[in-house]
Amino acid sequence: MQSVFRNEPFQSLIIEGEKGSGKGFISDVYAGGILCGEKDRGKRPCGHCHSCMMADAYTHPDLIKIPHEKPKLISVSDVRDGLVNAIQIRPSVSEYRVFILPEAEKMNAQAQNAILKTIEEPPAHAVVILLTTSAGALLDTIRSRCRIMRLQPLQDSQIAAYLKDVLQITGSKAELCTAFARGNIGRARSLALNEDYEEVRQEAVSLLIGMRDADQSELMNAVEEVGKWDLTPEDFFGIMSVWYRDVLLYKAVGDPDRLVFRNQTAAIKDAASQISYEGLENIIKALATAGKRLNAQVNQDLTIELLFLSIQENSR
Ligand SMILES: [Zn+2]
Repeated sequence: MQSVFRNEPFQSLIIEGEKGSGKGFISDVYAGGILCGEKDRGKRPCGHCHSCMMADAYTHPDLIKIPHEKPKLISVSDVRDGLVNAIQIRPSVSEYRVFILPEAEKMNAQAQNAILKTIEEPPAHAVVILLTTSAGALLDTIRSRCRIMRLQPLQDSQIAAYLKDVLQITGSKAELCTAFARGNIGRARSLALNEDYEEVRQEAVSLLIGMRDADQSELMNAVEEVGKWDLTPEDFFGIMSVWYRDVLLYKAVGDPDRLVFRNQTAAIKDAASQISYEGLENIIKALATAGKRLNAQVNQDLTIELLFLSIQENSR
């Protein structure tokens, strides 16, 4: 992060990171720093000048988020209107105008070609930031003209500190959300702020405790239900994975104090004695695979059936 803040901003920047990794937040801070009126300080936004107040309220006339009409596609006309033509207009209150294009991977090839010249030689007053889950989805010609910043997963301690300091969440809830997040602050936040958090946790726990004797319809029903809690099946499987990682940890270390599901030590201990290391790894992998498949809208019943079989098979 620090290296991005210089006396002169990079004019064409790609910020890459998975969903929930904080691309929007980072680009807002970067843009805020560029637009901030406290010029002597440079670097980070001061947070209290007129420019920073407007940037925080998303009313800054020189901070532009480029919209697109179709949800799954950014077309040539989107980028012509939102960037290529608009970038010629001079800033109205700050020294720069900052253009942010979220979901840049949704640009088709024509749209990417249409912005090539713009990002290669933007006007001196302009900064362009492309946000993307995958810089690899952008043409080489785009990538080679931009500075690329990749957001890395955060440490568990950083996630825990965020939950404590910003959301005032501590204890076992913070531990489950941190383990669930696997370095992704957006994931931690979404589970922590879920109104049905307690119900979700209980549902997962009771399913997991009975898993060895469960039949497939119970898993099927649980997955059907997750929508009402504003979760995806992948989220639910993520919570299940935390349980199996607990089982693995207990098997390896035998220390109940280190478990996320500490209040379920008996069930975890039981599972640890039944399931082999290999079996646990297979189950954790199967949960991840099933989550990805369901996200990609692959046949739900078949995916759950395969997952269920994998859990059963590896649980003995
Ligand atoms: Zn400021």
